[in-house]
Amino acid sequence: MDIKQIVKTQKEYFADQHTKDFSKRKKLLKNLLSELLKREKEIVDALYADFKKSEYESVMTETSIVISELKRTIKKLKVWAKPQAVMPVVLNFPSTSKIYKEPYGNVLVISPWNYPYQLALVPLIGAIAAGNTVVLKPSELTPNTSKITKEILESVFNKELVTVVEGGVETATKLLAQRWDYIFFTGSVNVGKIVATAAAKYLTPVTLELGGKSPCIVDDTANIKLAARRIVWGKFINGGQTCIAPDYLLIHTSVKDRFVNCFKAEITKAYGENPEKSTDFPRIINQRNFERLSLMLENENFLVGGNTNKEDNYISPTLIDEPSLDSEVMKGEIFGPIFPVISYETENDLHKIMSKYDKPLALYVFTGKNSFAKKIISIYSFGGGTINDTTVHFANHHMPFGGVGESGIGSYHGKQTFDIFCHKKGITKRYNWLDIPVRYAPYKGKLKTLKTFMRLFS
Ligand code: NAD
Repeated sequence: MDIKQIVKTQKEYFADQHTKDFSKRKKLLKNLLSELLKREKEIVDALYADFKKSEYESVMTETSIVISELKRTIKKLKVWAKPQAVMPVVLNFPSTSKIYKEPYGNVLVISPWNYPYQLALVPLIGAIAAGNTVVLKPSELTPNTSKITKEILESVFNKELVTVVEGGVETATKLLAQRWDYIFFTGSVNVGKIVATAAAKYLTPVTLELGGKSPCIVDDTANIKLAARRIVWGKFINGGQTCIAPDYLLIHTSVKDRFVNCFKAEITKAYGENPEKSTDFPRIINQRNFERLSLMLENENFLVGGNTNKEDNYISPTLIDEPSLDSEVMKGEIFGPIFPVISYETENDLHKIMSKYDKPLALYVFTGKNSFAKKIISIYSFGGGTINDTTVHFANHHMPFGGVGESGIGSYHGKQTFDIFCHKKGITKRYNWLDIPVRYAPYKGKLKTLKTFMRLFS
């Protein structure tokens, strides 16, 4: 595929104003919806073929999320796209002011493998809704999902509007060398930095949805049984390969034993005595990641699990007891079904551990004390989080989803997915029936009036 030619074609298409017609955009999104609904089973099968993700998890965390985001966008598009009237200022009297939502132009979306369908489609829907053209590069590690995504998008959109370019690092590098009007990237921190560097060359705005080491705190007032159940779910869904999965557990010493017992029981309840036999527990995406995770298991004490099967890239749900902060598992984001447990006594202990790491994408706190939860939220900087549960803040499309610092730049979901793909163009319209002369030269003798005027009305 000639990448330069693809970009050129899309640029011409955008410049010729083909994407600006609001009703055309809405019709295309409706066509996309009917195609996605029709082919949901094929998508689910592709996800299973890629990493044995169960149909249930695929519907819950992939297809349903895309469908609801798409339905919401179709329903709200008219309101979101409409120029928004804002209050005029007296200094400009008489005037009116409006914010116009202008599409950036040609957008590049690069998506990861862990939620390969949702994380490709949701930004694409926002970009198209806002009136951009899109080149999507899905992950090379989920070839079945990328293939069906490409087929679906090609059946709905012409290539001038949407092109899917499959490939790995080499292809991504070629794409990043082009001049884009916006880049939306989801993936690792290291690649995020490569994307930001490439974008800087042309001052291209970016959204970077990255990862991090997201802590999960359980204090001595938490509902331990419920905490264990909710953490097992959020940690091991998608085989632990979730950007906002709790990465490590900080538990108050006094409730550790009780928590561990409940945690074990919840794992058995969810995945049976041998999770390898469970049809609900996905595999590690590839051998490289299997080996990376296996290294984290070396020389550690297990409270639960610790089993692997190289033939099938299987790692069991694992609880590691009190690893050293210098150990492999505590160095960076785990991104797998391994959960280190570290006990703490005081808030100072918590601080010592958490302040070792960059600002995470998420934070979870399980507590019966509202004041403790509020304190944690106010002291620590992180992308977003949940009190007394894991990962579910992601599901509220009224809230921005994104990181801060090393965990990302910018956020999306719901209306924000539309908004990030628009430049907000402020336009003031002046009227001619009055022209207050105070601003015009010559200025001699007008300073006092100017000061009064500006201090009163600005
Ligand atoms: P990755 O960074 O390895 O790959 C992401 C995308 O970037 C892929 O399409 C890949 O082909 C491309 N890529 C890889 N190397 C590149 C390079 N050198 N130059 C240009 N492009 C390159 O990430 P991954 O392994 O697919 O996903 C896992 C990471 O993504 C984790 O760190 C996870 O936390 C993060 N993540 C974040 C979110 C979020 O919403 N914030 C969601 C999912 C995953």
